[in-house]
Parts: sequence; C-alpha cells; structure tokens
Amino acid sequence: MFRNFKLVPQIIFGRGCFAQLDDIVEKQRATPDSWVVFVVDDVFKGKDLEKRIPAHGKDLLLWVNVKDEPKTAYVDELTLRVKAFAPFLPSAVIGIGGGSSMDLAKAVSLMLTNEGSSTLYQGWDLIKNPAVYHMAVPTLSGTGAEVSRTTVLTGPEKKLGLNSDYTVFDQVMLDPELTKDVPRDQHFYTGMDCYIHCIESLQGTYLNEFSKAYGEKSLDLCREVFLNDHPDSADKLMMASFFGGMSIAYSQVGACHALSYGLSYVLGTHHGIGCCITFDYLDEIYPEGVKEFRTMMKKCGVELPRNLVKNLSDEKIEKW
Ligand code: NAD
Ligand code: ZN
Repeated sequence: MFRNFKLVPQIIFGRGCFAQLDDIVEKQRATPDSWVVFVVDDVFKGKDLEKRIPAHGKDLLLWVNVKDEPKTAYVDELTLRVKAFAPFLPSAVIGIGGGSSMDLAKAVSLMLTNEGSSTLYQGWDLIKNPAVYHMAVPTLSGTGAEVSRTTVLTGPEKKLGLNSDYTVFDQVMLDPELTKDVPRDQHFYTGMDCYIHCIESLQGTYLNEFSKAYGEKSLDLCREVFLNDHPDSADKLMMASFFGGMSIAYSQVGACHALSYGLSYVLGTHHGIGCCITFDYLDEIYPEGVKEFRTMMKKCGVELPRNLVKNLSDEKIEKW
C-alpha cells in the first residue's frame, strides 16, 4: 500500500514575512467575537519578537516553556487553559518557536476538538475530529515539525506522537530572520536533526524518488550551511528542514532516531542533542554520514556530552 498523505496547504517564505502574520490570521477571524491563541516559546518574553506578535483585544498569548520536551500532561493543562479562556473555541492556534512549541501548538489545536486526555490519541490515526485551524511559525530550523503529520509527545507510558492527517498545519510561515538569535550549540543540534533525517531517509528501506528528491536537496542545503558557512545559511537551513520533513514523510527515520527516543524517554535528553549523541556511535550503519557529521561538528566547534548512561540502573536500561 502506498501512503496517501496530506501536505501543508499554505506556505509563505521570506525574510521579514512575519510582518504579514496579522493579515494571514485576520482571515480566520470570521466574527467580531473570534479570538486566536498564540502559543509562544517563553524564550521570547521581553524580546523584540514579543512586541511584533499581532495579538488583539480578545486573543490569548499563551507562553510555553520547553525546558522539558512536550509531555501529554502539559498539553492537557494548556488545553484546559485555552478552554477556560472563553465560552467558545478559538478560531486559530498559532505556534511560534522551535519543534517543541510547534508540537505543543499542534497538540493543543487537536485536543480542543477531541475529548479526553492526549494520552488517548498517542498512536496512528486515533484522532477523531479535525483540529482548530493551526499555523506554525518556526524560530529554529531542523526538526521538520512544521511539515510533518505528527506531534511528538512523552506520556506516562510511552513517547509517541499524535499521528494523523488532522495534525498537519493549515499554514506555515517561514521567516529565516526569526532564527537569528538561536544559540550556536542549539543551531547545530537541531540542524543535525535535519541532516540525520536525510541520511536515514536516503538509506531507508522505504526510499522512493519522492523521498530521494527532497532528501538529496535537503542534504545539499545542510552541507552549504554546516561545511561552507554560506551567507544565506538561515534561509538554507529553513528550507533544508522543510525538505527533510518531506523526505521522511514517505521514507521514515531509522536506527539513530529509534535509539535516541530511548535516551529521551529515560533521561529526558532533548531530541536534537540526543540524535547527535546516538549518531556519533553509528559509523557501522552510516559510515559516510557519521564521518561528515564529525567534520561538521568540528567546524562548528561543538562538543557532545559523553558517558550519559554510565551509571544507569538495569531497570532504566530495560525501560529504554
Ligand atoms: P526546541 O523547540 O525544544 O527548542 C530548543 C531551545 O531553543 C529552547 O531552549 C528554545 O527556547 C530555544 N529557541 C527556539 N527558538 C529560538 C530562537 N529563535 N532564539 C533563541 N532560542 C530559541 O528545539 P527543536 O530542536 O526545534 O525541537 C525539538 C522538539 O521537536 C522535540 O520535542 C522533538 O520531539 C520534536 N520533533 C518533532 C518532530 C515532528 O515531526 N513533529 C520532528 C522532530 C522533532
Ligand atoms: Zn528528528
């Protein structure tokens, strides 16, 4: 069976396009009472971006903290806060931030229209009702969360996404200027998430021309960013992220992601850095990729933490 997947229907790309956010959101305000939720990474509290968020009178600016990656309990709490804000649902949920904030926005938009806890929907196509209109404004490039049909959530029993066609964003706004203040290490880790998506996809069992076309282009862009220091790196990495996400839509991720999920579930290690730590040990599976990854890491002056699982109990290893 071939997968028949849904794509993001509307995309705007370009430096400074964030200025058009108000106009785009306006189209969702069907009645004078309509209101909108902005789900925003709290790293932007007090920063210039905060002043530029087009939240009007009735809107809710919901700051989210992504110190821990998204958990089902947090999604449930945020959903309750949104529901308590007004007697009827918002007409749009706008996620502004990295993969974690975009996933929180996706999850909240789904849980506003689907009863019960988000834990009930961790899996494939368990979501019953369409989400509230939702839009992504990435401020960090690499995860591909802006284009994927999942929102990765850690629950009490498993780390598993809400995978469904309803999860896909209705609109994505790609403004590379928004990534200018990402710390160097984070830029590398999340960028490598994209690089690893491509390596895994291009070596995957489900590879076809669709995945290859996106994966190869994404890989080229990653190389321009991390090996050649291209002056338009921010633009290139934003497109690499998008294309990397498109590539794994068909081909899926591989060994590195499978192992890094365990690291994240047991130790709470964040996705990008977890993938880097794991990938660095996979030279037998991806010899060329790991070699190039190490060159990029050296060039970026990033060092990975070591011996994370040295004193881990058998019980925790088992959980992994
Ligand atoms: P993140 O969203 O967790 O953010 C990492 C750090 O960067 C945070 O401290 C954040 O505050 C900060 N940050 C974000 N933008 C910034 C900016 N412009 N300036 C300064 N700091 C900024 O990181 P991520 O790597 O983008 O996302 C990881 C999450 O994405 C994980 O939860 C992972 O499971 C998820 N993910 C989802 C998908 C998907 O398809 N849905 C795919 C891959 C990963
Ligand atoms: Zn990933």
